[in-house]
Amino acid sequence: MRAYLRLALLFSPALALLGVGGWYVLAHLRDLLPPDALRTGGRLVVVVVFDQMRGDYLTRWPGLFEQDGFEKLKREGVWYSDARLPYACTSTGPGHAGIGSGATPGAHGIVENSWYDRRTGRTAYCVADDRTSRIPRPAVGTAEAGGLSPDRLLVPGIAAHLKALEGDNARAFSFSLKDRAAVLMAGKCKSAGVYCFDSAVGKFHTSSYYRTELPRWVEAFNKSGDASPADGWFHRKWDRLLPADRYAGADDVEAEGRGTNGMGNTFPHPLKGKLTSPAQRYYDAVETSPFGNDLLWDFAKACLTAENLGRRGSKDLLYLSFSSNDKVGHSWGPDSHEVQDMTARSDRLMADIVRHLDGTVGRDNYTLVVTADHGVCPLPERTPGAERFEPLKAIEQLGEALDHTFGPLDGMPAAPWVRKVEYPDLYLNDVAMGEAGKPRDDVARFAAEWIGYRPHMLTAFARPQLAGPPLADPLARLVQLGWHPDRSGDVVLIHKPYLLPGKNDFRTNTAGHGSPHDYDTHVPLMAFGAGVPLRGERPEPTNSLSLAAVVCQALGIDPPPEATAPLPAGWE
Ligand SMILES: [Zn+2]
Repeated sequence: MRAYLRLALLFSPALALLGVGGWYVLAHLRDLLPPDALRTGGRLVVVVVFDQMRGDYLTRWPGLFEQDGFEKLKREGVWYSDARLPYACTSTGPGHAGIGSGATPGAHGIVENSWYDRRTGRTAYCVADDRTSRIPRPAVGTAEAGGLSPDRLLVPGIAAHLKALEGDNARAFSFSLKDRAAVLMAGKCKSAGVYCFDSAVGKFHTSSYYRTELPRWVEAFNKSGDASPADGWFHRKWDRLLPADRYAGADDVEAEGRGTNGMGNTFPHPLKGKLTSPAQRYYDAVETSPFGNDLLWDFAKACLTAENLGRRGSKDLLYLSFSSNDKVGHSWGPDSHEVQDMTARSDRLMADIVRHLDGTVGRDNYTLVVTADHGVCPLPERTPGAERFEPLKAIEQLGEALDHTFGPLDGMPAAPWVRKVEYPDLYLNDVAMGEAGKPRDDVARFAAEWIGYRPHMLTAFARPQLAGPPLADPLARLVQLGWHPDRSGDVVLIHKPYLLPGKNDFRTNTAGHGSPHDYDTHVPLMAFGAGVPLRGERPEPTNSLSLAAVVCQALGIDPPPEATAPLPAGWE
């Protein structure tokens, strides 16, 4: 036998191993190489929204933060410390539609979570759509919950814009425990993966607007845990992350709420109440605790793995809205130990998100944008001079004043001038006024002026002002940018700062938001990761909707036409 043949025979097992090894390396290149070694042209943009996080939370409790969460984003990314929502209706629906599109409520049409529909004479919920159904469909015998869609949204949004430009080379996902948050961030993108949490059954669902069955990874996630992926906290209590003396103020304060399902007003908060097995009241308690955020992040990680986000060579967009901050804020108020603990845990969550994305996608392949949909007002009981008020009191005797000025509306029962009040929007009885020949604009103008002088009211704005050219007064402009002629009121009421409409229920409805005042419009805005050209704090006033331009820049696309806010300072 020739020497080289003998040699070849001798080494053939090694050669075979090399061959197999080479194939293995080629086949698993993506997993074996450090992620930043890959230049696939792929990119992941993750938009993290904390539902109800005031901009000042990032500075008012520095002792609660570690170095690898918000502080890391401030240091190694850019932090707009004076970012403001540019409109007055600071609620979840308008906020998430703005985050998903870059448009103001006056343009995207989601003027509140719900508004009065003049055409049907009923209140419309921003994402309800009876022509669609929930997927999976609710079990037979349970209440048939209607479906969800972005049908009321008047603009396409960034996800749909991205799909229109890039086709199959782009993917969009949008997750939240709240349906309106998940649906509105995804905009009118039918191919988006949109999932929200159903506390009736403790599972994630979507709508037939997007697809008719759940993908395998969502099915698998829903089957994790005993009966639901949210069951793991049933026997746990929510206690402070840090020693009690690290938290400002007292735990047990007057006027704070007790949460839901017997959580109570002080730590530790049990979640199961009197239940012996998980049921809706327990799932509601999970949502009203930091574990709700953990649940959503677990769901997002399952998606990142199953869909290989940022690692398939496509442009991927992932919206995550963490709802539990809002539920905790509403229950215990923004100065509570509970909100401080929620914020400390949000800091650890941010650190975990960065670590996870660094490890799976690689720092060079993802961009992270962090913001909130709105802030919150402190408990009026704890603010000197502040109080709660009954909003309908503000329009008592308005009918008489209008009768006196414009003459009675013939043939109508008492007080026919107002068709509906969905505070802070007042809808005049346009039909009756039209039949009686009353001038709608003059009546609206008179009503706004009259209401503006009522107790608790700061001012009010009327349709003819809001429908006109851009208003110079900053407060008026905030109201105008949130106003849509078909959907908003003929008069918009603005109460004095630090007051809250309605009663304190001492449970889950204690603190609130929705006004144009600073505490509601000031939100965090940060960007971190690939393509972020600057570092550190930018203290100048910044339109928070400029995040849409940042997201599009990171995706390498032009913003959609409705995203009118330019890139923020430092990006030009
Ligand atoms: Zn809220």
